[in-house]
Amino acid sequence: MPPLPVRPWPHLPLAALPTPVQFLPRLSQTLGLELWVKRDDLTGLAFGGNKTRKLAYLVAEALQQGADTLVTAGAAQSNHCRQTAAAAAQWGLRAVLVLAGEPQSPAEAGGNLALDALLGAQVVWTSWDERDQRLVETVEALRAEGRRPYLIPYGGSNALGARAYADALAELLDQLDPAPEVIVLASSSGGTQAGLVAGARLLGYTGIILGISVDQPAHALQKRVAALAEAALAHMGRSDLTVHPSEVLVDDTYAQPGYGVLTAAEREAITLAARLEGLLVDPVYTGRALAGLVDRARRGHLFGRRVVFWHTGGTPALFAQKYLPNLFHS
Ligand SMILES: *Cc1c(COP(=O)(O)O)cnc(C)c1O
Repeated sequence: MPPLPVRPWPHLPLAALPTPVQFLPRLSQTLGLELWVKRDDLTGLAFGGNKTRKLAYLVAEALQQGADTLVTAGAAQSNHCRQTAAAAAQWGLRAVLVLAGEPQSPAEAGGNLALDALLGAQVVWTSWDERDQRLVETVEALRAEGRRPYLIPYGGSNALGARAYADALAELLDQLDPAPEVIVLASSSGGTQAGLVAGARLLGYTGIILGISVDQPAHALQKRVAALAEAALAHMGRSDLTVHPSEVLVDDTYAQPGYGVLTAAEREAITLAARLEGLLVDPVYTGRALAGLVDRARRGHLFGRRVVFWHTGGTPALFAQKYLPNLFHS
């Protein structure tokens, strides 16, 4: 499979690429399919994850524009915010993180919030309702102080960020021959799935790209992924290619308990991966996506299929006080 047939775009060497693709023999046998994992938890920047690939493009643009501060937003245990803080540190920028929820101390909360503090990021607390407004106000306040902020959207999910996952699909198809019939991933702000869908268009990949929604209803996420995929394609000079929401595959069954709510399904998926493969998945995203994969496999949907589970990272959240004690309930 050739590299993406588009002109390259400036990006920083933030990620250690290619990330490994590994066969999971014991999980494969247990689930009755041929299961591989794409290790984007190993992108290498401050415990890694999918946001590193997006930030490689986004932070390059920030530097080009002469920015001195990266501003973004997320939940208290946001992996995106932690990777943004690390990217900022590496490139001599400041990071301001607008986090939704009750103010917490890094030492008590642990996980990503502790890492944000270690990485030197400044945190602005806000409520979920006021998050968008607070983000805009934060950028304006920084400008008024004479700083040059660069605003990164939630999850790094815009056309430029999503582009990184078109590249990532080319990387995977280069590593795995024959290509997988199904790719399963955790999907939330939609940029990762959108990039994969855009890459599939460009490369003629016709396998299934199934997003397990972590929080949003399927119809909303399908719409968002389709729009982002088209925006990414346009960014790559292919505005002739279109993506309809109905072509985006999303399963929202497992999102019902709500964002970041650790249920028996995630606990089972986390312990299965840990004990059968020595593989760690996270409580919010990849644990939920793997729980969805396991459930679908048990219902016979994936029987005998060649499947890639795209590990998008998030493992520092295993050590968050919000999740760690709940991993051991039965
Ligand atoms: C952000 C994140 C996702 C979701 O990626 P989107 O591009 O926002 O859909 C999945 N897994 C982990 C671990 C994440 O941090």
